[in-house]
Amino acid sequence: YDILAVARAPVRPSVVEKAPDRYRPDTEALGSALDDGHVIPWFQAKFCTQTRRILGAEVLARWIHPEHGMVGPDRFIHLAEREGMIDRLTDSVIRQALAQCRDWRKAGLSPKVALNLSPHMLHNLDLPDALVDIARDYDMPPEMITIEITETALAGDFTSQLDILTRLRMRRFGLSIDDFGTGYSSLKQLQQGPFTELKVDQSFIAKALTEEGARAIVESSVQLGHRLGLKVVAEGIETEEQMNLVRDLGCEEVQGYLLARPCAAGAFVWPGA
Ligand code: C2E
Ligand code: CA
Ligand code: CA
Ligand code: CA
Repeated sequence: YDILAVARAPVRPSVVEKAPDRYRPDTEALGSALDDGHVIPWFQAKFCTQTRRILGAEVLARWIHPEHGMVGPDRFIHLAEREGMIDRLTDSVIRQALAQCRDWRKAGLSPKVALNLSPHMLHNLDLPDALVDIARDYDMPPEMITIEITETALAGDFTSQLDILTRLRMRRFGLSIDDFGTGYSSLKQLQQGPFTELKVDQSFIAKALTEEGARAIVESSVQLGHRLGLKVVAEGIETEEQMNLVRDLGCEEVQGYLLARPCAAGAFVWPGA
């Protein structure tokens, strides 16, 4: 059967989310997958902690392999980065995601999306204008797009990164620090960077109810984010207890299996649909 049609259709993710096998893709396989349109965007909802209303979606790449089923990004993003294919992959995933958003907007919905960029893209001064051009191609206002940058990305030359971040922000994209707590950003970088959002890494959420140290990190990340004027998102929320914790700490948004798993565009239901 046509596995791509299945992956794009409004079906339960489990249909394609096969048990992971030992498949280790190589450059050639990834290249053909990109050519053949087998690397597609999935969407995971982000919710308001208070109302549990959907506020937006994070775009997560999925490789739908005809023989091996779904290959997760943990098995091909590094490969793409190492083999110089990440720009092409990112461009393809973003364009497909924004084409989908255009369809949603034509249907009267207002999809806000978060896009993941690879760390090394923060070295490309052309990135801000390139993203503006892509957004324009799909009639998507930049203010409906948030760029997620992992905290580890801020390890390099911050002066040039700051330039790119500032240009992105001037072009009205939202800027999120992803996996916060796992990298080595300095307080100065946090304070100087024009970020709009902080995402507390899911590894701390997973342990927050059982380990005092993890809980302390979650608590102080939320406080720090708020003191810097950022919206704080908790990711990896799997239980009501975790939900209650981050709500009580004042996180504005949550993301996690408790409320929604990543799914194909056809299975995603925006409010008002
Ligand atoms: P991330 O940006 O931190 O994305 C969150 C990851 O956590 C996703 O894994 C998501 O499926 C998973 N997740 C969401 N809720 C839960 C939960 O409640 N529990 C648990 N255990 N996991 C949850 P995924 O989709 O496998 O992506 C892994 C990473 O790959 C992402 O981490 C991101 O860094 C990277 N990635 C994904 N798509 C892209 C892309 O298009 N471009 C780039 N450069 N990186 C991508
Ligand atoms: Ca992310
Ligand atoms: Ca994350
Ligand atoms: Ca992560």
